[in-house]
Amino acid sequence: MSGLFGVITNKPCATDLFYGTDYHSHLGTRRAGLSTIDNGRMHLNIHNIENTQFKTKFTYDINEMLGDRGIGVISDTDAQPIVCNSHLGRFAVCSVSKINNIAELEKLCLEKNQQFTELSMGSTNPTELIALLITQGNSFADGIQNVYKHVRGSVSFLIVCNEGIIAARDLYGRTPLVVGRRGENDYAVASETSSYVNLGFETEYFVKAGEAVLITKENGIQQIVKPNDKMQICSFLWIYYGYPCVEYEDINAEEVRYRLGEAMGRNDDVQADYVCGIPDSGVGMALGYAAGSGIPYKRGILKYTPTWARSFMPVNQEARNLVAKMKLIPSRKVLEGKDMVFCDDSIVRGTQLRDQVKMLYAKGVKHIHVRISCPPLVHGCQYLNFSASKTDKELITRRVIEELEGGQIRNLEAYQDETTKEYANMVEKIRQAVGVDTLKFNSLGTLCDAIGLPKCDVCTHCFDGSSYGE
Ligand code: SF4
Repeated sequence: MSGLFGVITNKPCATDLFYGTDYHSHLGTRRAGLSTIDNGRMHLNIHNIENTQFKTKFTYDINEMLGDRGIGVISDTDAQPIVCNSHLGRFAVCSVSKINNIAELEKLCLEKNQQFTELSMGSTNPTELIALLITQGNSFADGIQNVYKHVRGSVSFLIVCNEGIIAARDLYGRTPLVVGRRGENDYAVASETSSYVNLGFETEYFVKAGEAVLITKENGIQQIVKPNDKMQICSFLWIYYGYPCVEYEDINAEEVRYRLGEAMGRNDDVQADYVCGIPDSGVGMALGYAAGSGIPYKRGILKYTPTWARSFMPVNQEARNLVAKMKLIPSRKVLEGKDMVFCDDSIVRGTQLRDQVKMLYAKGVKHIHVRISCPPLVHGCQYLNFSASKTDKELITRRVIEELEGGQIRNLEAYQDETTKEYANMVEKIRQAVGVDTLKFNSLGTLCDAIGLPKCDVCTHCFDGSSYGE
């Protein structure tokens, strides 16, 4: 995924920039960077955060980050921000993006005699590509529209420049950007509202899909690119990505998770001693499920946080599964001999859940009932660098459908519809694969109701294959 933070203040911005960026650490695991402008002079620091937390790497850097304005990024992909000196002046840009036609756009830039100087894992750095597309415009507004016109996938970005901070949200708003204000004329802009609460900012404006705003101390928030009339914000932000206290489109993530659990608990007839959330994103759902079902909530699995940095995420899947396992500790006395409902956000490959289930039976749980807050994931994400699943074939649903359809992937519509026998067969096969007593998913209708936005405003592509844009 990745997370962005920008700030423009009446005093040196380094401390706000440091904490505001750090509060996005749950959104990325690879690189982090900060850039400020001080009277036209650019400052830049980028570090690898794969094995160390953001704070450790940047604590001493902030002394050099001079100026009243800056941007920061926690990146799941490329090293950024990218600093440019162009006919638009000096600026730095950082992005949350997934550019599906990157090779085509690279060619376009090279044909215009532009050059790339950065790399990202041996390939073109997407944020540098965005910077080059911006500089093809006659103004920042023109350059931003050029980005929207060319990129297939999604891209939201922040620019720090002499004029102020510019926030440009993806054409279909799949990733969010929100502006906060502190006092008369200090502004922050962020992916997550929770990043600026402790810095004293209050939410002022949710940037709209396809909109770009220039933020200055003198004139506040000025629109420089008009919004798109269509939005497709990622529904997975509320299910999994977002920090529980965050608000997207003014809708709180924890409350959505609670509503998802409550709806499922209200309609469930399972008998159990306790309900427990798989930390972290299953906890809000489990609290809601307990309220809806009347089954008491207990913390049967605890996350060990003191020495595990969120950012420690090995590249190979086997090692990632091991880390996921080692972070969660079962509480034997709570679990032994009990019938338990476990709530979780989603099932991607099914391997982590299968391992957790084995461990829970080994700790003496009598019966395990798993409840999932969203519908089954049937399509890979084309719009975000969704770390859990990059392609369709990694999904457990696809493996099961292939098996049920005699070695082919077909009839997907029937498998996406919770009223069909195909859907029931698919869920049963997944249940067997992860080895639990019962398994249920929420429906797409329940998900949209819990978020509270019309379905057409929310991206549900990974559940039903529908979406605007490419
Ligand atoms: S496909 Fe899924 S993860 Fe990707 S943007 Fe849409 S809802 Fe979010």
